[in-house]
Amino acid sequence: MTTYEMRIDRLNFNTDINYDNIQAFSIGHESCILKFFKVIRNNELLKFIDKEKNLGKQIRIITPFIPERHLAEIKDVLAEINNIKCFHNSVIIVNDLGLMHYIHKMNENRQLCLGRNLLACFDYAPWGHRIYESEDLHIQKAVSQVSLYDDEKMDFFKKYNVTETEADVTKRTVKSLKEIQKSGFRVNIYKSSFTYGLQRSCYIKRYNIDQGCSGMECEYSEKLDLDELWCGAEFYKEQENINFPSPLYIRGNQIYGRAHDIPCDWADSIIISPEQNNTYKGADI
Ligand SMILES: [Zn+2]
Repeated sequence: MTTYEMRIDRLNFNTDINYDNIQAFSIGHESCILKFFKVIRNNELLKFIDKEKNLGKQIRIITPFIPERHLAEIKDVLAEINNIKCFHNSVIIVNDLGLMHYIHKMNENRQLCLGRNLLACFDYAPWGHRIYESEDLHIQKAVSQVSLYDDEKMDFFKKYNVTETEADVTKRTVKSLKEIQKSGFRVNIYKSSFTYGLQRSCYIKRYNIDQGCSGMECEYSEKLDLDELWCGAEFYKEQENINFPSPLYIRGNQIYGRAHDIPCDWADSIIISPEQNNTYKGADI
């Protein structure tokens, strides 16, 4: 049965409404270490997930890429997490191979899930298929697959007790994601967004280098309109046969678009964001 996982990656997450249709909550952040620290240590959010855990919901932890200067603090947080009851047995979603190694060394029984930022695929770029369309068909088939679909890679991650993976999905990646699932991994699909890019810092800080961000200002999505694609330089022009994603959004340090409209009833879990809570009450997937 497909379950729904609600992402808690913002301080303004609404803890007062009803989440009966949700079976799992993942708390933390997939791409910003500063936001991760703020969210995972927020008392109100911790109280909320404790309550949900007591209602039988699954509680998961989502972690981002870890810049070196935050290593000591992430180790502290992981130690804190070990002492918080509702995180006992939580799956940790990792977007950093070093962190995956460290968590496994600390506790080899901790179940891990690969974050979508660790998966690569030509088709995740809107023009990806154009890169290999002149190749032989069997080569096209091979390179359109998600990078995890490889016996040696899957065995490698299984040694780290990685039992699941997250993924964005496109028409051409469904097949290899289903094969990964057949190999024993749970596959959790994003219906909340499709990542196109990550930046080092959030867009508030990028507007003005002197301006700080409390972690609240960049929580809301801003629409991002493209009006030019380096046309002046003549080496990149928009082509009619590339469906450049529009609109794009920017939130925190992520640039994303809408998830592709592809049936995902085969997935083990659908990851949604708070904005979608109503859409998914009994809706088809
Ligand atoms: Zn910010």
